[in-house]
Amino acid sequence: MFPRSRPVNSVTPTESQLPLQGARLGQPWERRSRAARAALQRMARWLLHVWRASLQLRVIASTMLLGLIVVLMLGSYLYQRIADGLVNDRLLTARAEATSQTRAAQARFDSAGRMDAVSLTQLAFDVVGQLSSPGADQSREVILTRAKNNTGPASVPTVLSSDVGLPSVPASLRAAIAADPSHQQVQIISISLADGATVPAAIVGSRVTLPAAGQYELYFVFPLEREQQTLQVVARTFSLGGIVLVLLLGGVAYVVTRIVVDPVRRAAVVAERLSSGRLHERMRAHGEDDIARLGKAFNAMADSLQKQIRQLEDLSRVQQRFVSDVSHELRTPLTTIRMAGDLIHESRHDFDPSVARSAELLHNEIDRFESLLADLLEISRFDAGAAALDVEATDLRSTIVRTIDATAVLAARRGSRVEVIPTDGPCVAEIDPRRVERILRNLVANAIEYGEGRPVTVQLGVNADAVAVSVCDSGVGLRPGEAALVFNRFWRSDPARARTTGGTGLGLAISREDARLHGGWLHAWGEPGVGSCFRLTLPRHTGVPIESSPLLLRPQQERSAPSLASESASSPVATSGGAES
Ligand code: ADP
Repeated sequence: MFPRSRPVNSVTPTESQLPLQGARLGQPWERRSRAARAALQRMARWLLHVWRASLQLRVIASTMLLGLIVVLMLGSYLYQRIADGLVNDRLLTARAEATSQTRAAQARFDSAGRMDAVSLTQLAFDVVGQLSSPGADQSREVILTRAKNNTGPASVPTVLSSDVGLPSVPASLRAAIAADPSHQQVQIISISLADGATVPAAIVGSRVTLPAAGQYELYFVFPLEREQQTLQVVARTFSLGGIVLVLLLGGVAYVVTRIVVDPVRRAAVVAERLSSGRLHERMRAHGEDDIARLGKAFNAMADSLQKQIRQLEDLSRVQQRFVSDVSHELRTPLTTIRMAGDLIHESRHDFDPSVARSAELLHNEIDRFESLLADLLEISRFDAGAAALDVEATDLRSTIVRTIDATAVLAARRGSRVEVIPTDGPCVAEIDPRRVERILRNLVANAIEYGEGRPVTVQLGVNADAVAVSVCDSGVGLRPGEAALVFNRFWRSDPARARTTGGTGLGLAISREDARLHGGWLHAWGEPGVGSCFRLTLPRHTGVPIESSPLLLRPQQERSAPSLASESASSPVATSGGAES
């Protein structure tokens, strides 16, 4: 494929134009419009939030909207009916008036007999003048004009009673009269009054015969001014009534929703307090209605929950005390057994080989028994809330050195090399050095034990608010889901695994409690056959929460794999094989 070429007449900005565009982007009006847009977006977001958050607002707005639709539909229907009624009434009276007046006019023309054009014109003016003044409170205009099919000499001109001229008469009306001269014709038109206002009017037309002048059309124009005023009053009343009705509906909806929503809100507050541990919180439940029943049911549920939680707490306390008491009680006999065991162990060379072997086994098992008892006592101290931090500013590099010294014998025995990735500067944090050393010793000892003789890497990291130590091995690793289980008490991936170091299954559980006591995290990651990585993250200053860990959870070489590229150091559970504690 050829690369696409630019069209010949395409315009490319020259270098001198570009800064100009840049300057234009920053013009004050653009900045103002951007700020206005941002303010509008903020306002829209706020309105959306208020709309979503308030059930009461939604109910009131929906009721008012539905009320408005009903009022509009009903109002326009009634208005239309009233308007039709008024106009029809007026048309009826207009027709009747026009009929009688046309008859009267025809009678006057007939009685006049033959006369000259001037007298006839005068008579026409007289008749029109008389017809157009019905009374003080009535008004009608009269037009007398030659019929379209009257082709004789125009002896009488068009006579008008007012400004309403012949052009106001619709051609269709004139055509209808020409087609059916024996019948009266009616139409609604718009006329302009003397004050300039335009009003609808009923126009009634019929034929009259003028002596010697022939066929003429006589039109009566009845302005519907009064009807229009009546309809305006009706429209104003309807609009005002509609607004008041919609507001009333809104008020009613407000009162009704308050009656329902208030107890629900109170229930939500009580539920929130309950879930935050204030188990004594209860709802007010007076009366017999649905809300009272809800309150009673809620309170019954809270009672039952509180009872069960108390029972569980009591049970757990009894269990903790039992473990603690048993561990304490076992200490005294164990001390005696220890002394006797040591004595037998020291004298094992005097026994025959099978008894000497038993003395060895006894000695090892007493060691395991002792460390198990120590771990149990430590766990019961955590459970009783008696564990306290003894904080001091410590450089974690020295803690790591001490840890590696303490595990050197084990590493040598397993043929593992423990490598520390050097750091640039000091990594000082406010920690309890004894507890942190215990965590690290456990992590390094596990890495050596499960590392299958391969090197173990210890890395130290620091950022603004946290320090972290990761201990990674390339040993057996962890199966999917095991990373979350390793911190459980007495959990072991394979209970049949050889325990040459005499592990109790409580090491990581104690480490987790130690990390928590510091306000820190202990994360695990592992993949079968690839290895495991444990990362301890601690706040640099006591009580300051950690935002992210300075180290990644997975070992360095794993990070370059495409599937792992998106891992973030701030995510507590970074992989399917990773878990947080
Ligand atoms: P212990 O080591 O005394 O058995 P821990 O609490 O230290 O107890 O560890 C619990 C379990 O977690 C171990 O039995 C082992 O199955 C698993 N585990 C811990 N560290 C590792 C590791 N580095 N690699 C693989 N599995 C591990």
